[in-house]
Amino acid sequence: MSSRPPSVLLVEDDPAIGRTVAFALEREGFAVEHVLLVGEARRRLGAAGPPPSLLVLDIGLPDGNGLDLCRTLREAPAHQALPILVLSARSEEIDRVLGLELGADDYLAKPFSPRELVARVRALLRRASLASPRETLPRDFEHDAVGQRIALAGHWLALTRLEYGLLAQLLQSPGRILPREHLLARVWGEQADAGDRTVDTHVKTLRAKLREVQPGREFIVTHRGLGYSLQLPPG
Ligand code: CA
Repeated sequence: MSSRPPSVLLVEDDPAIGRTVAFALEREGFAVEHVLLVGEARRRLGAAGPPPSLLVLDIGLPDGNGLDLCRTLREAPAHQALPILVLSARSEEIDRVLGLELGADDYLAKPFSPRELVARVRALLRRASLASPRETLPRDFEHDAVGQRIALAGHWLALTRLEYGLLAQLLQSPGRILPREHLLARVWGEQADAGDRTVDTHVKTLRAKLREVQPGREFIVTHRGLGYSLQLPPG
């Protein structure tokens, strides 16, 4: 299960550049998903299933501006840790600065060499995996922020995007009660149709998955009228 290759979501409308980038990354062992539009990228990132490890994002796209997507992703907690490499046809300083201010992790001006791009992608993934706070996690859990997956007792959990988001939030502050509104805002972000019941439903399925790995242990505590917390391990 841990052999899943790092996946890159490439958002680039220029067919020649898209093909070149996809080919360069695939040759280095990355799984590449190539879309041409901001709308497609948003749908892909909002879908269930394993999220990409990294986003390569063109600025000038037919249905919008890559930088707008970058900004909204940074506002949605589920994607805050997603490394983003921005591509731009213009090498102007303003684009670079704006891209980084809006939450991009790195910036590459066209034309660039595919080798340079692969090197930047590798560096970003390495940085992201170093940034994941493994050492502060409660015992038994392992959090791979780049792959957006969590292991319990050495087993990678098959979590939906929302279950992953919930557990990641709880793991960030073990022992602290997180109100439903907090979890809704952090995990569901812009999806305004979600309510308290939605949180409860996903906590229930999350609990079931944790129980499959470690029956007889309750990790998530319900605090009636308040919210949820992650049970601190004894000792
Ligand atoms: Ca373009």
